Amino acid sequence: MAELIPAAFANLLRRMLREYEREGKVFDLPARKFWHGPADLDTSVLFHGHRAASPLGPAAGPQDQMAQNVVLAWLAGSRILELKTVQINDRLVIPRPCIDAVTVGYNVEWSQELRLAQSLREYVAGSMLVDVLKETNLLGQPADVLKQDTILDMSVGYDLAGIRSPQVRAWIESMKDARAEVDALRRGIPADLARFRHLDFTTALSDQITLSTFHGCPAGEIEGIVRFLLTEMDVHVTVKLNPTLLGREAVDGLLHDVLGYDEVRTRAQDFAKDLQWEQALEITDRLSEVARARGRTFQVKFSNTLVVENHRPFFPASEAVMYLSGEPLHVITLNLVEKYRRARPEVPISFSAGVDARNYADGAALGFTPLRGALTRSLRSEAVDLLGVLTGVGRADLHDCLVHAAALLNTPVLVERATRDPRYRAEANRKPPRKIGSQLWLFDCVNCDKCVPVCPNDANFVYETAVLRRPYEVYRYEKGVMKPVPAGLFEVKKQHQIANFQDFCNECGNCDTFCPEDGGPYVEKPRFFGSLEAWRAWPARDGFFAARADSIDAIWARIRGVEYHLEVDRTLDRGLFTDGVLQLEVRHSVRRVVSTSAREGTAEGRELDFAAYLNMALAVDGVLDTRKANPVNAPYL
Ligand code: SF4
Ligand code: SF4
Repeated sequence: MAELIPAAFANLLRRMLREYEREGKVFDLPARKFWHGPADLDTSVLFHGHRAASPLGPAAGPQDQMAQNVVLAWLAGSRILELKTVQINDRLVIPRPCIDAVTVGYNVEWSQELRLAQSLREYVAGSMLVDVLKETNLLGQPADVLKQDTILDMSVGYDLAGIRSPQVRAWIESMKDARAEVDALRRGIPADLARFRHLDFTTALSDQITLSTFHGCPAGEIEGIVRFLLTEMDVHVTVKLNPTLLGREAVDGLLHDVLGYDEVRTRAQDFAKDLQWEQALEITDRLSEVARARGRTFQVKFSNTLVVENHRPFFPASEAVMYLSGEPLHVITLNLVEKYRRARPEVPISFSAGVDARNYADGAALGFTPLRGALTRSLRSEAVDLLGVLTGVGRADLHDCLVHAAALLNTPVLVERATRDPRYRAEANRKPPRKIGSQLWLFDCVNCDKCVPVCPNDANFVYETAVLRRPYEVYRYEKGVMKPVPAGLFEVKKQHQIANFQDFCNECGNCDTFCPEDGGPYVEKPRFFGSLEAWRAWPARDGFFAARADSIDAIWARIRGVEYHLEVDRTLDRGLFTDGVLQLEVRHSVRRVVSTSAREGTAEGRELDFAAYLNMALAVDGVLDTRKANPVNAPYL
């Protein structure tokens, strides 16, 4: 299984700044996609007593486990970020691929794939990078505090024993007071960026937690964890509830009769094991009271994914179940919200289920805080400056009450509307992304660039290389000399190329789903490891590691299982290319062999493939070119 390896803070910081200066983007997100909402519209909300500039933000998931993800979410407009769930078992083995977004969305992944200490470092690093963005005012707005108020929401799982373990407790305490981690990263800021060393970085990262429990977690266990968090960890708590709370009959009715997802099958045992309706109301009441007594707040989140039978060929057959999200979950969860609000109208609700740009305004009208999903549409057409009106008549105190009342009144209307909306039905969501029947290889493709934004970790990136069309040879060792033997035509037709940064790739499979060609960008495109150690640790995997020192580039490569090394002296324009036995000296700029040599005792007939040199030279010259920033050349920008 691929292992995520966080990047050094200095590399993230340098890349973020240089990429924006040189190319007008940050971590591959172009500035035109940065979103901050209309400056004159107050979209701010209170979440657990803290103000966020908007309720928008990602739910805990694969898209917010690394530092660059925190920055990307923030640049795209998120102001309440639920960080990926951490737990005591921080060495999970997850089947790959783990995200099936071919249609509505299924997954088999769950908590952080990093170690607890790495997660802490990533969240602190992400927060510090966002602080740098605020300081440099990259969004180009006047220093408007309202639009920058951001909340980080911890997410922990999954049982009381794990959450009260010394490791998880220490982790939570470190998020509450991250001075030590901030100072450690501050010390790592390189001399050329020394102006950021003295920034007043946020150190109290979070005092709130969204609790994630196992599907089937007993009511007493959920209540015990929340009590522990409220009383002993002294944090505000949101508890994430399961859609099974709606009852199997109602869920199946929506899935099959209303929405037409006949192929999706729930299982009776998952409904029987999960928290029951009456229990949910009872623990809501008791925990709200505990929170009140402690001066903390408690709320619920709808919802977790829905556990269903694994009926598709995407995940291994060994996975009996998978977890449904997307359009059908949106409707199921809204119906659950309506039922819950009839019973407990006063309890604040956080919402995450199939939120997108088209339904975001409805979610805001339903008063969900936070509202987890992607927002690209302005809320202006839906907005009224209620606070302005109330302030004008001296009754600003009524604002929160009126907004909540409006959300309650909106609930039956908007739930009914979404339930009837054809866009959530099966027939509107069966079409897979288009495939055109061609096979990816190391270079060239249709250049749609879809694999870049669909990667949850920003592991795929664009680079440029030289086009090339020439015959190539293999060099065969015979009777003490290396003879060139014609082997075919080597051709790279396009400058615009894609590469993959293995350290950020957890092989979730999402880029393969959206790539119009076959093979998967993360499999076929040049895979760059972030260190020689990582490259060596995966001997079964093709890939590259490139390092630069002064004018010398050193490149290690594994191509179809064969290992090569290339050293390029750019001052002398000399490349030394070897498989460890045979060696070619190359005039690197023109890709021409000037001399050959072989180790003593070389076996007769051994061959060195010049195409491997061409692959390495083109990929590495392009990726190390610092005119375009990427995770490989970040140390040299
Ligand atoms: S690898 Fe696939 S998704 Fe990426 S740019 Fe090429 S064709 Fe598009
Ligand atoms: S590169 Fe592809 S497989 Fe790897 S993490 Fe990104 S989307 Fe997933």
